[in-house]
Amino acid sequence: MPIRVLSEQVASQIAAGEVVERPSSVVKELVENSIDAGARDIRVEARAGGKRFIRVTDDGLGVAAAEAELAFRRHSTSKLITADDLARITTLGFRGEALASIAAVSRLTFVTRTADAPTATLLRLEGGQVVARQESGRPPGTAVTVEDLFFNVPARRKFLRTDRTEKRHIDAWLTRYAMAYPALRFTLLHDGQSTFQSPGNDRLRDVLIAVHGLEIGAALLEIVPPDPRPASGIQVTGFTGPPSLHRANRGYITIFVNGRWVQDGRLTYAIIQAYHTLLPTKRYPLGVVMVQLPPEDVDVNVHPAKSEVRFRDGDAVFRAVQKAVRHTLLERSPVPVAAHPPTSWPVSPSRWKEDHHERLSQLRLRPAGGPLRLEAERADAQSTGGDTAPPAGKLPPLRVVGQLGTTYIVAEGPAGMYLLDQHAAHERVLFEQLLAERQRAAVASQALLEPQPVELTAEAASLIREHLEPLTNLGFQVEPFGGATILVRALPAIIAETTPRQVLEDVAAALEMGDAPLESAVEEAVARQVCKQAAVKAGQVLAQAEMEELVRALEQCTSPRTCPHGRPTMIHLSVEQLAREFGRVGG
Ligand code: ADP
Ligand code: MG
Repeated sequence: MPIRVLSEQVASQIAAGEVVERPSSVVKELVENSIDAGARDIRVEARAGGKRFIRVTDDGLGVAAAEAELAFRRHSTSKLITADDLARITTLGFRGEALASIAAVSRLTFVTRTADAPTATLLRLEGGQVVARQESGRPPGTAVTVEDLFFNVPARRKFLRTDRTEKRHIDAWLTRYAMAYPALRFTLLHDGQSTFQSPGNDRLRDVLIAVHGLEIGAALLEIVPPDPRPASGIQVTGFTGPPSLHRANRGYITIFVNGRWVQDGRLTYAIIQAYHTLLPTKRYPLGVVMVQLPPEDVDVNVHPAKSEVRFRDGDAVFRAVQKAVRHTLLERSPVPVAAHPPTSWPVSPSRWKEDHHERLSQLRLRPAGGPLRLEAERADAQSTGGDTAPPAGKLPPLRVVGQLGTTYIVAEGPAGMYLLDQHAAHERVLFEQLLAERQRAAVASQALLEPQPVELTAEAASLIREHLEPLTNLGFQVEPFGGATILVRALPAIIAETTPRQVLEDVAAALEMGDAPLESAVEEAVARQVCKQAAVKAGQVLAQAEMEELVRALEQCTSPRTCPHGRPTMIHLSVEQLAREFGRVGG
């Protein structure tokens, strides 16, 4: 084939592909432009997950009438003049690509007005070509409307997911910016319904409450830097969850570097590491961590979408983040003894219920004659959320004193008295035993008696098809079977009991959320099994030897202080507290 120079149109569509992957990329770029333009109030409207319609309206500086067309020229930007400027970039945009790229693959309407202009300028573009220009009325600021995204790139359009998924991606970007810029007010509407609003009062906690709800928002701990003026120039602020708040995946850790959301596995790990020994196994913290450092110490120009950054001294940033979070946990974490009972354990029954293990929370424990079995029952368990925070770390050796109310085990340790919830404790023991088994059996695969075709939604099926290799590594034998049908030949042994359909649906849901494939599906299944097997119930009389065995087993656990759903297994009354309660202190 002869070599030819691509037409401007084709070249710009290719370039657009790097910036505009899906509707949420449009939202991200337009919101960044609004922030760069000094807007205080940013409103985002989407229809059909943004596939049909996206509008971002701001009250920022606007673009002068004479420059409106220029804004859509590739590599035209008001934010950067020389390559040197790149080293100290403080705006979110700088490549001058976004508007040109978005316009190339949509029908776009740009209405903008500077504060001193008598009227607004309206520009309409189709596939990157200006098709109309006129004067218009609107207050100072800018409104960009993007319709029929990828109308001229059918290949791209095909890859868009359901409205629901695209909507979720938009939500994710908008909440990220709301967190990064608490002084700005963000409003989000989907299909005419307001779904999110941040107050814009410059209080990050209020944004977090808007994002996560009151309970979680209020429980998050504000990061206290170990050193308010670090010599490294690296400032770490934000909020991080108390150890009692955890999730099945890393998706609840959000990191910003100089106001820019970044995806950085290493910094995520720094945060997880800070919780070392504080969380149950395979559980991850929540956190919103803002890193500020001199612009010349970070390269943001790694990727067109700018969600990756490169640090001049990555180790220093890692240490700063890890130290700040760890320091916060040690300073602010609920005190390790029962000193302030009601407030220090922020996991209420209603919260852990809504968590990933909703099913488990519906288990009710009732006395049953006969040997150790747990009965599952669809009843609401307004269960025993302990009121006091468990101390961190491993358990000391405990001496069993006796049983209380056929529900709790009273034990004595070097640091005082321990009250154990016998059911929660046993769940923990079984859970860790199962996890260990699962690790041994990691990729053991169990063939179905007969290969089974499972028909999924088109979206779920394509997710499975895209991940055949990792799934095989995990013990799956599945293959495309025409249309949205997947043929299941074998499943990982640990979840072989679940129906193939259920497993594939769970897996697809996890993949869609960007979770580590299977993590939550496996965990869910493990937890279900724990449930089935969990022996000791509340209300069950235990012999001294049984209690001792349970306590010994709990001592062996990695995370003995919480049950697999994050509830405490024990309440600790320290010697000091007992002395204080009895007025023996300083007495
Ligand atoms: P970049 O943000 O990298 O400069 P864009 O293509 O996103 O590139 O935008 C090009 C230019 O258009 C910006 O530099 C800015 O001058 C102008 N612009 C875009 N959106 C807005 C807005 N909402 N308010 C004011 N000016 C804007
Ligand atoms: Mg931009």
